[in-house]
Amino acid sequence: MMSPFFTKISSDSFRFYIDGFAPQPVPRNDSVRVVWMGTAGLYIHDGETRIFIDPFVSRYGFLKVAFGFSIKPNSETIQDWIMKTCGGQADVVFVSHSHYDHSMDAPFFAGQTGAILVGGESTAFIGQGAGLRDEQIRIVRAEDQMRVGKFKITFLKSLHSPALFGRVPWPGKITSPLKPPAPASEYRLGEIFSILVEHPKGKFLHQGSAGFLPGMFNDMAVDVIFLSIAGREDTYALLKNSAIPLQAKRIIPIHFDDFFLPLKEGLFFMRGVNFQDFCRTASDFNPSIPVQTLPIGQQVVLFH
Ligand SMILES: [Zn+2]
Repeated sequence: MMSPFFTKISSDSFRFYIDGFAPQPVPRNDSVRVVWMGTAGLYIHDGETRIFIDPFVSRYGFLKVAFGFSIKPNSETIQDWIMKTCGGQADVVFVSHSHYDHSMDAPFFAGQTGAILVGGESTAFIGQGAGLRDEQIRIVRAEDQMRVGKFKITFLKSLHSPALFGRVPWPGKITSPLKPPAPASEYRLGEIFSILVEHPKGKFLHQGSAGFLPGMFNDMAVDVIFLSIAGREDTYALLKNSAIPLQAKRIIPIHFDDFFLPLKEGLFFMRGVNFQDFCRTASDFNPSIPVQTLPIGQQVVLFH
């Protein structure tokens, strides 16, 4: 039965916004491809290097999360997604911040694929709690850069949006190894990064929360922005401080799906996300920048 609080995303309302992703020619081996995993989760590869960003697939119901029941990564679902994306091995798992819907599954994706978990200090404690060895964890700070294959990654200091009744949910840091099962509230925010990813074929930015620091993207440009839109305060301000200064040629909204429901029930909008308002405002702002949505769980060519 459909919940009265959630709107199922119909293929009709979606089709309007899908522009240019399907059908696609057979990708070249070295094209940069992306799979959206729901929420802010992405899998990216270029035929050589395999990257996850904020992979999160262990979805729990709203009441379980809100009332502080202990939750834990769902190893079966994680394994399914590993097979669906990288097929078993990966290189890095980046985490934008340590809220559970970005970080809880990340060390398990790393542990199962041999990848290195990369994030702030709070994320490192989640990695330790998950049993990762020290050499499988790398702590980064704002402005740090790293190279993985042909990818160059820069971690930019960012802000979280006040997503919960005007406040940032679960603020603060994680200060000791966090071993699941644990209540969602123990996954404190930690450091928050916007992740700039540069590849010879194109550049993109992963914005894991709808917050921003004014001016943070001055003097930067990308081809694509993956923009989290749940919990944004003001669509106009968000765009004016993200996609517009970045001169993005495509906006791909993410983190608008209701992650309190399992994906197998279909894609539902997060309550209050007002997806249409986002698309309309983006179009009013600059109609030449397409807003495109990705199909969940399907590989799409980002840069040929
Ligand atoms: Zn968050």
